Amino acid sequence: ALVDTRVPLPHWPQAFFAVSNNVHRPGLLLSDLEPRDAGLAALRQQGPDAVLAEIERAGLRGRGGAGFTTALKWRFCREAAHPEKVVVCNADEGEPGTFKDRVLLTSYADLVFEGMTLCAGIIGAREGFLYLRGEYRYLLEHLEAVLQRRREQGLLGQGMADTGTDFDIRIHLGAGAYICGEESALIESLEGKRGVTRKRPPFPVTEGYLERPTVVNNVETFLAAARIAEHGGYWFRSEGTDRSAGSKILSVSGDCERPGIYEYPFGTSIARVLGDCGAQRTQAVQVSGAAGATLGVDEFQRVLAFEDLPTAGSFMVFDDSRDLMEMVRNFADFFVHESCGFCTPCRVGGKLLRDLVEKVAARKASRHDLDEMRRIADVMRRASHCGLGHTAPNHVLNTLDKFPQIYASRLASADHTPAFDLDAALA
Ligand code: NAD
Repeated sequence: ALVDTRVPLPHWPQAFFAVSNNVHRPGLLLSDLEPRDAGLAALRQQGPDAVLAEIERAGLRGRGGAGFTTALKWRFCREAAHPEKVVVCNADEGEPGTFKDRVLLTSYADLVFEGMTLCAGIIGAREGFLYLRGEYRYLLEHLEAVLQRRREQGLLGQGMADTGTDFDIRIHLGAGAYICGEESALIESLEGKRGVTRKRPPFPVTEGYLERPTVVNNVETFLAAARIAEHGGYWFRSEGTDRSAGSKILSVSGDCERPGIYEYPFGTSIARVLGDCGAQRTQAVQVSGAAGATLGVDEFQRVLAFEDLPTAGSFMVFDDSRDLMEMVRNFADFFVHESCGFCTPCRVGGKLLRDLVEKVAARKASRHDLDEMRRIADVMRRASHCGLGHTAPNHVLNTLDKFPQIYASRLASADHTPAFDLDAALA
C-alpha cells in the first residue's frame, strides 16, 4: 500500500508497458511479511560463525545478477586486515524493467535491515549504508522511520541486538546515475566523488569505502540472508538447482495480464513464468534488463538459473504486436544517456551505435551499416573501462542474431546497392 507507482522510471518503455507492484507469487522469501528478527536472535544465541555456516550451507549467491557466493564474500571481508569493516546495501536498482527492490524496501524493509545487521555482526562492522536510488527518494521517509524504530527497539545502535556490537545504518540517496549501481562507482559516490568505476581487483571486500573492507550486496541478498539465519541453510536449499540454490524474485512487466512481483525457485522456465503472468502471443522476452538476453520463442524452455539465464530480476514481455525495433531504440538511447563518459569506447561507441540504430529505424541504412554496428559493438565489448560499456551493445547484437528481420525489413527499401554478383560478372 505504501508503493507510489507514479515515480517515473526514465528510459523504460513504460509508455506502453504495464507495470505493477502487486506480489503475485510469494515463495520462500516473500510468503511471510511479519518482522520477527529471528535471524538476529540466532546470531545472539549461536554466534556469528554458526550463522555464517548456515549461509554457506544455503549456497546463497548474490541477487544483483552476478551471483558471487555470499558467504565467501562475507568471509573475505571478515578476514581482511583493516579493522573497520563496512556494510553497504546496493538499492540503486536501475536496470530497466527491475522494480522488485523497491517493493522489498516498501514492504519488507525490516528484513533487509536485519540482513545488513547480521552481516555486520558476522564481519564485525560498525557502519552501514543503504545506497538508495535517487528515483526512489519517495521511500526515504518510510525507510528512515523503520531505522528509527529499530534503533528504539535496540536492534541498531550501541550494543545492538545484545550482540555486543555497535552498528548503525545511514541512508545515502543517489542522484539518478545508472552507473552508481556498479559497486565501485557506488562507493566513489558514497565518498562524495563522481560515480566512476574503479579497477578491480582490489575488490571492495578488501578495499572499499574509504579503503576499508566493505561488503556490498543487493537488497534481495540481505533479505535472503535474514530468512536463512531464521530457517537454516537446508530450508533454503530445498528449492532451486545444484548451482543456484533457493528462489529468485522477478519483476515481470510488459504484455501480460498480471504484471508485478513473482518469486520462483531457480530452474523455472521462461514458459512457466509467461503462463503464470498471463502472457499471450509472446514474440520475445527480455531477461535481466537492457544489457541482458533477448529471447525468442524457441528459447522459452530455457531456465532462470546462474547456469543458464542469470538475472537481477528483470523480465519484460513483448507480444507480437510490438515492433522490437522500438525496444532496440529505447535501450540504445538509455545507454547513451547513462554512459558516465569516462572512457571513449563507451561514450563515443554508444552514440555511434545509437545513430546507426536510428538510421536503420529511418530506413536509411545499408548492409554495410549493420556490419559497422557489429564492429562498434565489438570495440565497446573489448575496450570499455567497465561492465556498462561491455554489455551496452548486447541488445543490438542479440536482435541482429535472433531477430534479423527487424533490420532486414528496413533495409529492403533503403538498400539500393545491388549485391555484387561475381558469377554474372565473370560470365
Ligand atoms: P562481478 O562478477 O565482477 O562481481 C560480483 C560481486 O562479487 C561483486 O560484489 C564483487 O566485488 C565480488 N567479487 C567478484 N570476484 C571477487 C573476488 N575474486 N574476490 C572478492 N570479491 C569478488 O559482477 P559486477 O560487475 O559487480 O556486477 C555485474 C552484474 O550486475 C551483472 O550480472 C548485471 O546483470 C548486474 N546488474 C544489475 C543491475 C540491477 O539493477 N540490479 C543493474 C545493472 C547490472
